[in-house]
Amino acid sequence: MNNIYGYTLNMLEEYFLSIGEKKFKASQVYDWLYKKRVTSFDDMTNIGKNVIEKLKTDFNMDKIKILAKEQGKDVSKYLFGLHDNNKIEAVLMFHDYGTSLCVSTQVGCNMSCSFCESGRLKKVRNLETYEMVEELLMIEEVENVRISHVVLMGIGEPFDNYDNVMNFIDVINEDKGIGIGARHITVSTCGLVPKIKEFSKNKKQVNLAISLHASNDELRRRLMPIAKAYPLDLLMDTIKEYLANDGRRVTFEYIMLQGVNDKEENALELVKLLKGMNAYVNLIPYNETSHIEYKKSNKDTIMKFYDILKKNRINVTIRKEFGSTVSAACGQLRSNYKEVE
Ligand code: SAH
Repeated sequence: MNNIYGYTLNMLEEYFLSIGEKKFKASQVYDWLYKKRVTSFDDMTNIGKNVIEKLKTDFNMDKIKILAKEQGKDVSKYLFGLHDNNKIEAVLMFHDYGTSLCVSTQVGCNMSCSFCESGRLKKVRNLETYEMVEELLMIEEVENVRISHVVLMGIGEPFDNYDNVMNFIDVINEDKGIGIGARHITVSTCGLVPKIKEFSKNKKQVNLAISLHASNDELRRRLMPIAKAYPLDLLMDTIKEYLANDGRRVTFEYIMLQGVNDKEENALELVKLLKGMNAYVNLIPYNETSHIEYKKSNKDTIMKFYDILKKNRINVTIRKEFGSTVSAACGQLRSNYKEVE
């Protein structure tokens, strides 16, 4: 039986047509699910008894469970238990401009970035669309908040779960449902070139972020094995195509690792790489974890790096640190939870 939260409005319309019903029933169901937030098909009082019975035989509305929560300053982190007992995390951040949710897209991750806690658990499976939708629904329910922004930057590589992730974006973006604006949704990838090309063709106004983290190939290959498959010149050409196609600005994420990628020469290489592109760089103070020996760059080093980019007219910001008040580096809560189990 399929979980109804995995259905885009289009898919639900097709379902209704396939059972000989009018397709507007799908909009009515969306309204019950996402505007009124009912938790039982029996509460959908305007769609007819027979249709309700049919829905009950074809779909379930089972939710994933919140197992643990850590509360920090302006940030909360949740550990979810899935139906097969796998665990994932999501992080809710309170900003001046609203609340943003960082969702996981896979159980584990196969990208093996050397600095990242998530990759210590290899990919077990992709998340289903409904599981990603429920990360948002459950947190809105328990916190009684409306989430205004969604970033796909939790555990997993979104472009390694492309179809489910695109359906997830469709569901949360749908006006007749949750209605989060495409410009308030950001998908982050470590740089899977074929999928960036596919994403380019898809005309959604969703933001794209690229985890760059290195200013040259040799360094990037050391930090991110994916760079062996897709070297920097190929990655940059693909992003330039994306920009030419779409015109939306791309964000480059750059974790600041002490003594590894934070030197003046790295900043200058980065300037060369990004000059003239409609892009901006987000410098991320590394969130240290007990299992990995990298240290975060100190404040002065980060400021110096920032100044070099700024002086060379590269748009740059330094990411606000949320993670250090909770174990918010991707994968940390799950892996700490495992240790105490
Ligand atoms: N796989 C995708 C999305 C998940 S990671 C990607 O690579 O973009 C989301 C971001 O968090 C990435 O930029 C990742 O490199 C970064 N990240 C991972 N571990 C981190 C840590 N300990 N501190 C700070 N950022 C981290």
